[in-house]
Amino acid sequence: MTSAVAEVVTLAAELIAIDTSNTGDRSGRGTERAAAEYVAAKLAEVGYETTYVESGAPGRGNVVARLPGADPSRGALLVHGHLDVVPADAGEWTIPPFSGEVHDGYVWGRGAVDMKGMVAMTLAVARQFKRDGVVPPRDLIFAFVADEEAGGFYGARWLVDNRPELFEGATEAISEVGGFSVSFDGGTRAYLVETAEKGVMWLRLKTTGTAGHGSMLHTDNAVAKLAAAVTRLQEHRFPLILTDPVREFLEGVADLTGVPFDERDPEAAVARLGNLSRMIGATLRDTANVTMFDAGYKANVVPSVARATVDARVLPGREKAFEAELAEILGPDVEREWDSLPPVRTTFDGALVDAMALAIGAEDPGARVLPYMLSAGTDAKSFDRLGIRHFGFAPLRLPAGLDFTALFHGVDERVPVDALEFGTRVLDRFLRTC
Ligand SMILES: [Zn+2]
Repeated sequence: MTSAVAEVVTLAAELIAIDTSNTGDRSGRGTERAAAEYVAAKLAEVGYETTYVESGAPGRGNVVARLPGADPSRGALLVHGHLDVVPADAGEWTIPPFSGEVHDGYVWGRGAVDMKGMVAMTLAVARQFKRDGVVPPRDLIFAFVADEEAGGFYGARWLVDNRPELFEGATEAISEVGGFSVSFDGGTRAYLVETAEKGVMWLRLKTTGTAGHGSMLHTDNAVAKLAAAVTRLQEHRFPLILTDPVREFLEGVADLTGVPFDERDPEAAVARLGNLSRMIGATLRDTANVTMFDAGYKANVVPSVARATVDARVLPGREKAFEAELAEILGPDVEREWDSLPPVRTTFDGALVDAMALAIGAEDPGARVLPYMLSAGTDAKSFDRLGIRHFGFAPLRLPAGLDFTALFHGVDERVPVDALEFGTRVLDRFLRTC
């Protein structure tokens, strides 16, 4: 009989080979249906009853299944994963991004780490539990959803608004961007569990000015005003705030490495983290990066309007203060509108966290489990609205020296075969004891 560990690589490869690129264009057909049907068929094959839902638009496929647990009085654990991926430009890749090829000990392709690898691990364990008649300690809800890469408006967010009964009784959840290992000098290893996420604020900025001939004197130029405002914002340093998950993480690292952590200078501690500093560094303060700029249509015409888009990420608890600071930096001439997704956070404690640490410890003795804050956002933001406590826990033991965070949305995205097999064993233990 096939085991979860034996089939996880095939499941990951086959999922990657289904191109579910999400461009963020909300007018067209979704690409997730084929992957959702694949997942539903794999679950049905071993006896699950599945619910297939298209979330508000054609092709935006989602699948939900439930495995009843031993104690119905306990809240359910939701294990969710997204089926969509960001697009990939095949010309830049060593191995075609939608091949799902296994090569040099890695499964290659778009989605290998974000997050078809975890979807495959979840599917493999769910299938094994059903085949073996495993009754988990409490209900498990498996959800495979669309549109995470564009905010979940046609995925988790839509399901929470329109089909909340699918998640009835869920009190806690696990999903992506956590549970992976980082290695430190001296060979110690820690697994990072995401307990918080920054908020997202996608800002649309606009200035207006006086249009006219490019050859004449102009004192009211919309493009120049917006360029200056955006430059002020880009150069601004928002205040450094040491939040609980970041402090706990840096204290844990100090413990593991023997290099003391000075609370007054967290940036020095972050700078010692190597590749990981890109992400952890972004959780010390709010950030605002200009990502789009649009103005003008001819060399000799001063346009009356200029527009820019800024991707701002806000620490939990900083929303109001951020808005006020933003208004001051941009000034009254810049019109502002935004879409926002709130920060989420929980504490790093309780029985579920203990179960994570035990499952990791059983497969990687001596390794530490540490909380951290994600600088980006996930579907946790949607499920948080149902009052579900969220953790990023998609366990992977990674080779030291692999720049893992660069693989997210990166070229040559890939995941080690043995990391998937390790993660499947951890997930199996964890879900039996959750
Ligand atoms: Zn993802």
